[in-house]
Amino acid sequence: MADRDDTLYRRTACAGAPVDLFFPDPTRPDAQRLEQARAICADCPVREACLAAGMAEEHGIWGGLTPRERRVLRRKQRGEAA
Ligand code: SF4
Repeated sequence: MADRDDTLYRRTACAGAPVDLFFPDPTRPDAQRLEQARAICADCPVREACLAAGMAEEHGIWGGLTPRERRVLRRKQRGEAA
């Protein structure tokens, strides 16, 4: 993922994975590919840093979470109802 921090990227579990696995077309949800991405993220040594870096991002899978899941997490962190 070329737009991610380069230092972080070199240690990621997704290095070499297809970019569209982590930045899928939002108009064409694919549960199977989402689970593939989540499985890669589950073993990633920089997962927490990735999620922190991607919390404000509106697109893509960051730290194993979708944009919607990150929005819910942001609301929870702010103490708002989900
Ligand atoms: S948590 Fe997932 S998207 Fe983030 S760097 Fe690791 S494998 Fe890539």
